[in-house]
Amino acid sequence: MHCHALCRARVAPSTRSLRWSPSALFFGSILWHEMAHALMARFYGLPVRRIVLFIFGGVAEIEREPRKAHQEFWIAFIGPLSSVALGVLLLLGSWLLGGGLPGEALSWLGQINLALAAFNMLPGFPLDGGRVLRAVLWFLTGNHLRSTIIAARVGQLFAGGFMLLGMVQWFLTGNLFASFWTVFVGWFLWSAASGHLQLARTEGALADITLEHAIQHRLKLNWDWSLVYALDMMSLHGVRYSAPVMRDNELVGMFALEAVARVPRLNWGTVRVANLMRPVQGVPTVSIRSDLLETLRFMDAENADFIIVRDEQAPERVSVLDRHELLMFAERRRRAALAA
Ligand SMILES: [Zn+2]
Repeated sequence: MHCHALCRARVAPSTRSLRWSPSALFFGSILWHEMAHALMARFYGLPVRRIVLFIFGGVAEIEREPRKAHQEFWIAFIGPLSSVALGVLLLLGSWLLGGGLPGEALSWLGQINLALAAFNMLPGFPLDGGRVLRAVLWFLTGNHLRSTIIAARVGQLFAGGFMLLGMVQWFLTGNLFASFWTVFVGWFLWSAASGHLQLARTEGALADITLEHAIQHRLKLNWDWSLVYALDMMSLHGVRYSAPVMRDNELVGMFALEAVARVPRLNWGTVRVANLMRPVQGVPTVSIRSDLLETLRFMDAENADFIIVRDEQAPERVSVLDRHELLMFAERRRRAALAA
């Protein structure tokens, strides 16, 4: 603000009492923005864990990802939209008040809110604009995964841009603090965008995996094998959890390694697989072409700890899978995808 030396004495005390305000007003604006996201998520029935404010922004932690593109669009877009609305209101208030400290403060805060909206609408993850971009691509293509990857890549592009901008800024102005800040924002955006990319890769690694991959080269036990022989075969084949039990090419049960603990070692030669297996009657059946993640969700819903896997075209490929094995398999695929 412009002021003569004379009036400075008069203004000074009120400036001092307002000293805490700029940062409080800034965080208030961010809280307003995040509350808008949170309320919209609530409106769509998505639980919001909490709102976190940090040094240059905030985040409304929503527990589940929206299921529909339009939900994602509105949850993301409402944030910048409400910042613009607040910004315009504040500028209007400042215009009504005219000059003076309160008017200038409102004008400053109004501009901050507009800047907040503009920054958040940059179309790359992790910013709201990135979510809006993903929602639009998702709506147009129906491909959630590809849309996520594109929004994360654009996010990395903007993040790299910020880091570069910071360095150019340093070179041109020599202002170390301001340029460091820009680089820091860029670095922050970069790591968040990369995190999204990695999540998308995980999703991608598991998306095309069917049970066919999980039951490849699976050892089948014969129902009248002795426990000792079955254990030898299982260790040779690297079986760690369970195996299907067959009788005359017919699936009759599931043998889980943990059942061995119930049998005294002396009896391992005489006890048969049939004595320890769990029968397959009443166990849910899924197609060999089912999706891995879908199957895990299905098992949760059915409260089943193992399932029968059938191939409609090749009945001899019947097998069983238990939850441990599926989870381990998913984890191995995920690691392999991240390492690639
Ligand atoms: Zn936002």
